[in-house]
Amino acid sequence: MLNRVNAPNDLSAFWMPFTSNRQFKQSPRMLVAAKDMYYTTADGRQVLDGTAGLWCVNAGHCRPKITEAIQHQAAELDYAPAFQMGHPIAFEFANRLVDMAPDGLDHVFFTNSGSESVETALKIALAYQRVKGQGSRTRLIGRERGYHGVNFGGISVGGIVGNRKMFGTLLTGVDHLPHTHLPAKNGFTKGVPEHGAELADELERIVTLHDASTIAAVIVEPVSGSTGVLIPPKTYLEKLRAICDKHGILLIFDEVITGFGRLGTPFAVDYFGVKPDIMITAKGVTNGVIPMGAVFVTSEIHDAFMSGPEHLIEFAHGYTYSGNPIACAAGLATLETYKEEGLLERGPELAPYWEEALHSLKGEPHVIDIRNIGLVGAIELEPIAGEPTKRAFSAFIKAFERGALIRTTGDIIALSPPLIISKVQIDELIDHVCAVLRAVD
Ligand code: PMP
Repeated sequence: MLNRVNAPNDLSAFWMPFTSNRQFKQSPRMLVAAKDMYYTTADGRQVLDGTAGLWCVNAGHCRPKITEAIQHQAAELDYAPAFQMGHPIAFEFANRLVDMAPDGLDHVFFTNSGSESVETALKIALAYQRVKGQGSRTRLIGRERGYHGVNFGGISVGGIVGNRKMFGTLLTGVDHLPHTHLPAKNGFTKGVPEHGAELADELERIVTLHDASTIAAVIVEPVSGSTGVLIPPKTYLEKLRAICDKHGILLIFDEVITGFGRLGTPFAVDYFGVKPDIMITAKGVTNGVIPMGAVFVTSEIHDAFMSGPEHLIEFAHGYTYSGNPIACAAGLATLETYKEEGLLERGPELAPYWEEALHSLKGEPHVIDIRNIGLVGAIELEPIAGEPTKRAFSAFIKAFERGALIRTTGDIIALSPPLIISKVQIDELIDHVCAVLRAVD
């Protein structure tokens, strides 16, 4: 067997994503193994996973049921063509997903990542408007500080300047709603903030500007994750839904982070009681173990595509690995693990404890806001003038050295541990964060 535990000496070939390669390669941080809540580093240290990998390993690491399912499937049917051919496990997985999805989201399209799920959802929205005879509806509306992956559609509707400015002209016909982060009004709110629902009315202004007959869809993350855990103000999502309904605009929820238990409910739709027309997922669908995404749509959308002549392809879109058998096997075993251990409903048990633990950091050095919902949280730090990411990044490095993996975006520390976390481990994580807040300049 290959010995992968020893870190390689030559790090030059791999161009790492979303990473300062030069900085990393001077002082690499290597993970060589993982089990449940902990990573093992190349130098043999245990590191508590405070971020479920990248918001995806919701059932914890190297869960035997998932590992065995992958091994078994790889030995039985490793790959089958995704187009014009089927294999039973993809149908079975789609059925199980629909069983657990919010009512009405009854059909699933498989992709290989969150970014691909976003592109798929945007294309479904545009194509749906066409098949309904409303081809003038081509505009897409995203939101400032929205993150929808890194493909061209996603960075166009997304609202992160840093992810767009290297790439010139993107999709045209895109508008952005304002973000809902109002620290002056909602600072240190526990759970859903009170103020800001009126920001949804900006959608009416955009509709007035362009006319509803030109707008295909609105896409938002119910809770923005990657840009610092921005929780929608009370009734904001309801308002968006109502405005979309009024004008025949599709509403897309990007649940790549919030899906599969992150908010203490299976999906954000279950948490907020607001249902989109299209729901995008990835990450937790396979516990992050095999790349996969799943886009859920209503029967109304699905059926609109199914009414043409039978021999024609209904939707000119798909991936070589859509519904890949090994990914489906991992996904089925993931859903079983979630179910057996009640992981998608740990909110009532853990969220209040999590909330108190996070908010105990109020008053620690540099902390200017704390936000939480379900099993996700953010600690916003006062930026150093002219170096707006420096303090949080330094906290990330120090936390890793101490034995905790945290995530930072700008000057915000974001936490999203695996849903198997215990109260003792919550304390351990918060103790690490507290110590690094006291240690950073
Ligand atoms: N949408 C959201 C809301 C995300 O948080 C992410 C990833 N963090 C993506 C899309 C993109 O997913 P991926 O990295 O799997 O392409």
